[in-house]
Amino acid sequence: TSSSAAPAGSLFTVSSPNVKYTDSTIESKYTYRTTTVNKGADGSFTATPTETLYDFKTERKVPKTGVMLVGWGGNNGTTVTAGIIANRRGLSWDTREGSRAANYYGSIVMGSTLKLGSDAKTNADVNIPFHDVLPMVHPNDLVIGGWDISGLTLADAMDRAAVLEPTLKDQVRKEMAEMRPLPSIYYPDFIAANQEDRADNVIAGSKADWAHVEKLRADIRNFKADNSLDKVIVLWTANTERFADIIEGINDTADNLVAAIKAGHEEVSPSTVFAVASILENAPFINGSPQNTFVPGAIEFAERHNAFVGGDDFKSGQTKMKSALVDFLINAGIRLTSIASYNHLGNNDGKNLSSQRQFRSKEISKSNVVDDMVEANSVLYKPGEKPDHTVVIKYMPAVGDNKRALDEYYAEIFMGGHQTISIFNVCEDSLLASPLIIDLVLIGEMMTRIQWRASKGEGADAADYKSFHSVLSVLSYMLKAPLTPPGTPVVNALAKQRAALTNIFRACVGLEPESDMTLEHKLF
Ligand code: NAD
Repeated sequence: TSSSAAPAGSLFTVSSPNVKYTDSTIESKYTYRTTTVNKGADGSFTATPTETLYDFKTERKVPKTGVMLVGWGGNNGTTVTAGIIANRRGLSWDTREGSRAANYYGSIVMGSTLKLGSDAKTNADVNIPFHDVLPMVHPNDLVIGGWDISGLTLADAMDRAAVLEPTLKDQVRKEMAEMRPLPSIYYPDFIAANQEDRADNVIAGSKADWAHVEKLRADIRNFKADNSLDKVIVLWTANTERFADIIEGINDTADNLVAAIKAGHEEVSPSTVFAVASILENAPFINGSPQNTFVPGAIEFAERHNAFVGGDDFKSGQTKMKSALVDFLINAGIRLTSIASYNHLGNNDGKNLSSQRQFRSKEISKSNVVDDMVEANSVLYKPGEKPDHTVVIKYMPAVGDNKRALDEYYAEIFMGGHQTISIFNVCEDSLLASPLIIDLVLIGEMMTRIQWRASKGEGADAADYKSFHSVLSVLSYMLKAPLTPPGTPVVNALAKQRAALTNIFRACVGLEPESDMTLEHKLF
């Protein structure tokens, strides 16, 4: 059955011959407009507008979705769990500044809007919540579970995290005391030695083992069955691991990686074992930490199984600012010459990062975030030229989860002048990361329900529908070191990342990208 009637419960309908609503799907015929450039012998360019026709098909039924967090008992894990419970129950609590109520601030899906179009009568912008563009899961409906090498209940782990107000904790404590993380795999060599004293909830074995893969798969299946879920997303918010060495014959291909796990090779990290288990259960796996979980063999394994993966490293505070500010400076024609980034934090993440090999993972993920913006501007920078960039992180127990980030941006302006911008960013780290976890889960889930094919036009048989590429680069906005399909460029600029996300969602309902030309306000 097909109709153009407003889908029940949705905020808007698109009225267009290119958009069709059925009981189970939204189907759009979409013209993707790009520009192809050819370089002539004399070095000049010829730019040719190009059109590609796609069909998009979006499943409308919102599945019952569960999320399993690896590192559930950590600061992020406990904070996002308490936050969702508080939202679900509509809680408010007393603070010294007055009453506060649960919200989803900091989530692009739950807290931001996008422009649907212009009002037919007044031409004023009509904006709608991001969450209403496509039929998305509501975070209040997520079932949460997961693993941790620390066996504390979520209530005790929430106290250990020291993030939330006591008056809020009191109201969620009973429910969270019932939640206990599943035992996890612990390969001590991958995280800091200073984590050992919390590892009291572990599965036997200290290196990769195929039995670990099977155990984690069974955990995912049981969680799904016990909670009658349609879908499970697995997200790594456990400690930052050291990088794994990329070794030929071990983790360079899918087959080698599987063989290496079976042989108990020391260079396979717990996060990669989780990724492999999730891929085999067709559960999208997202990595919120900086390490190279997705070794080449893991990517190939995901592609082979048509499973979704995304990563790496939540982009919450300092780097989010950086990917907005550097985009602005360089696009303003200002020649940024150095970035100095200092951090100190006192939570368990900081403790783990006080160890050199784990810090190195973070340093790498924090360092490459301006490359694409610099490379795009050949007026300011010669090929290969980059601003100096230093990242320092220090463990300072006293400040707890209240991370401090100090950044100095130093730039060359007109006629040899200088501009120095200093930023001092203070906030609870976990309160920034938790809404990103929600966005990654909701958008990751949504991407499992969107399919595309090359459109062959009316009447002609088109190819079969397929999914987006296994590597969900559309999650880049939430991630510091975005993983992209092999051989494709990384986009770090925040505004471009948001535009990709919103415009892909718009395409699924047959709407043009937001152009911001607003000719209706200029040509009359
Ligand atoms: P945390 O140390 O409080 O929590 C991590 C949890 O993982 C701990 O409870 C630990 O016991 C558990 N763990 C360690 N190894 C495990 C394993 N193999 N299996 C299961 N559990 C394991 O840290 P956090 O503040 O919640 O941050 C989590 C991760 O997110 C860190 O890697 C951090 O670098 C990353 N991250 C955080 C932010 C942010 O908080 N703003 C931003 C970017 C990235």
